[in-house]
Amino acid sequence: MAEKKVVILGGGVAGANLAKTIQHQANVTLIDPKEYFEIPWASLRGLVEPTFAERIVINHREYFKKGDLVVSSAVNITETAVVTADGQQIAYDYLVIATGHTEPIPKTRRERLDQYKGENAKIKSASSVLIVGGGPTGVELAAEIAVDFPDKKVTIVHKGTRLLEYIGTKASSKALKWLKSKKVDVKLEQSVDLSSSSEASKTYQTSNGETIEADLHFLCIGKPLGSTWIRETLLNNDLDADGRIKVDKHLRVKGKSNIFAIGDITDVQVSVINQNQVIMAFSRMFITPFPLPLDIST
Ligand SMILES: Cc1cc2nc3c(=O)[nH]c(=O)nc-3n(C[C@H](O)[C@H](O)[C@H](O)COP(=O)(O)OP(=O)(O)OC[C@H]3O[C@@H](n4cnc5c(N)ncnc54)[C@H](O)[C@@H]3O)c2cc1C
Repeated sequence: MAEKKVVILGGGVAGANLAKTIQHQANVTLIDPKEYFEIPWASLRGLVEPTFAERIVINHREYFKKGDLVVSSAVNITETAVVTADGQQIAYDYLVIATGHTEPIPKTRRERLDQYKGENAKIKSASSVLIVGGGPTGVELAAEIAVDFPDKKVTIVHKGTRLLEYIGTKASSKALKWLKSKKVDVKLEQSVDLSSSSEASKTYQTSNGETIEADLHFLCIGKPLGSTWIRETLLNNDLDADGRIKVDKHLRVKGKSNIFAIGDITDVQVSVINQNQVIMAFSRMFITPFPLPLDIST
């Protein structure tokens, strides 16, 4: 019997993990706009230590040797195929959407590593760094810079009432205390008007009227979801108000028997650790068609 054609959209944590897991069980095509997978939670260490970046940017071909790799973005979906930005039509029996979050990053691993080196050189030559956003990325970046470059003046401006608002207040307080111990200046309940600031002038105005001087700034306010393109497809009505794909307890797009979504693009709140378990279970679906083994509600 011919192997089922499984097309996975997105080579991030969820899509890459699934492609690696099922490549020997199905005829898998991975579609991603870049040639590599990157470990997101290690990227901030990569900024302060570029040799570390070489370990976290991994060509898809290193772990995905059997299936087809298409380096392009999905721009449309029909009942039977995915259309890519470079004009290919890729047929599927099962489609798995894992387009999580998106940002413009280079296509090749070499270009991405050069980008890390460039950002690192900017940090090294700056005396002061402004970080806009006190969520996990802003806090982690401030900590990495404070540890590796204790002489640099680091400021975080966060519009919320506390750092890391998505977790408990105890953790927020601990992070704040630790950052202050490293002389990081944390300004809460303020935002930065980036339109009236520039790296050339090296001054930034906050909503409270404060002026911050910084040689360099990083915007750490979250990346957009990778679902804008889905609005123009047959799944338009399957997005929630935030742009996440609504899935059932089997991670299947509601009402579609052969289209699934995994990872950050779904309306399911699951941590990456749990996502890994989900993906492992999900992959078994392709070798045991009945019954669906995965039920994320249990
Ligand atoms: C600094 C940082 C630290 C983190 N720390 C943790 C942590 O400690 N614990 C935790 O659980 N989570 C953590 N996270 C969150 C975690 O990284 C995400 O939950 C995870 O990356 C989600 O994986 P994903 O595959 O769904 O999406 P992503 O990793 O965002 O991958 C999406 C992929 O889809 C691709 N794509 C986008 N649009 C298209 C398109 N149209 N066609 C084809 N491909 C497309 C993108 O290029 C990308 O490769 C952290 C994130 C960051 C940034």
